[in-house]
Amino acid sequence: MSSHDALIQTAPAHIRAIAPYQPGKPIAELAREMGLDEAGIVKLASNENPLGASPRALAAIQEVMGDLARYPDGGGFDLKRALSDHLGVAPGRIVLGNGSNDVLEMAARAFLTPGTSAVYSQYAFAVYPLAVQAAGALGIETPARDWGHDLDAMLAAIRPDTRLVFIANPNNPTGTLVDGEALKDFVARVPGNVGIVLDEAYFEYLPAALRANSLAWIDTHPNLIVTRTFSKAYGLAGLRVGYAVCHEAVADLLNRVRQPFNVNSLAQAAAVAALGDEAFLTRSFQVNQAGMSQIVAGLDALGVPYIPSHGNFLACRVGEAARVNRALLERGVIVRPIAGYGMPEHLRVSVGLAEENSRFLKVLAEVLQTVPATARTP
Ligand code: PMP
Repeated sequence: MSSHDALIQTAPAHIRAIAPYQPGKPIAELAREMGLDEAGIVKLASNENPLGASPRALAAIQEVMGDLARYPDGGGFDLKRALSDHLGVAPGRIVLGNGSNDVLEMAARAFLTPGTSAVYSQYAFAVYPLAVQAAGALGIETPARDWGHDLDAMLAAIRPDTRLVFIANPNNPTGTLVDGEALKDFVARVPGNVGIVLDEAYFEYLPAALRANSLAWIDTHPNLIVTRTFSKAYGLAGLRVGYAVCHEAVADLLNRVRQPFNVNSLAQAAAVAALGDEAFLTRSFQVNQAGMSQIVAGLDALGVPYIPSHGNFLACRVGEAARVNRALLERGVIVRPIAGYGMPEHLRVSVGLAEENSRFLKVLAEVLQTVPATARTP
């Protein structure tokens, strides 16, 4: 046994068993690996906003640059107030996170211990099983229905030791959306002592008619924790800022496991400014709608099946996805293989700017010529 093994063996088995999260490949890494020019690489792998960040957010960052020697406001006063105005919820119902990933982890840390369990769906966002496993709890995965959440199966899977249920709406990587009425009914049926984490990371990409009025349900269902983020439609993924909206008493609990200064000062200032930039948000929505139509039309033309998506990404079925992915990378196009989700025939592509989507479709068409059609038959 080498010296570090002695230490590693002391970590709990559930920690040692964690399979690390697989992020999208950074542009610089692909450029290094393939000897490609960074400028020629298209990255559609992490559901980022292709417009960048709101100019107002960038200006707000400049203003706080002079104060970087100081700790951020650990209570996030300005951002909570801005969110409170924007969402119509009391500031005491808001918990800020270093990305919404952070609040998902806080929920797991606050409620899960070894001997408890949490329920999530097959193909649901990968962070749920990771957070559950890190807490030493048992993850109960329910089979998906049409790639999405089967709410009846999830309800039936709740056991006496279940403390949390996770739902991504829309879900990543499948883009599926649970109907608002069905979701409301589900929330009403989950026992009050089981927390419901409703992850709405892609909420702002939904047309108004498809947005569930989830925040309003917290009054009658204080076991509901809704999470959202500034990483997607608000274009601030690099700054890491997201939030939960939940009952004051739940917020109080989450804040106990929150790092005191988990959201940095640049992120707080940028998020406040981004919330005020309605025009940018509208443009993000429109660019996504147009890009989604473009990608869908391109895939239809190529005869590539896909799962209709409500997010800013889409999972398409290309057959031998690992092979197709490698060929795309060699040609400077980064998308996301999702074999880790149990979807070895799919690739997830994020919606980009028109020219990025065109490049993806063109290169995909080239690559599929080289992959035998038999490998692509669903
Ligand atoms: N939830 C879902 C469904 C996501 O897809 C993501 C980002 N991949 C997150 C949460 C976390 O995003 P962030 O931490 O950047 O807010």
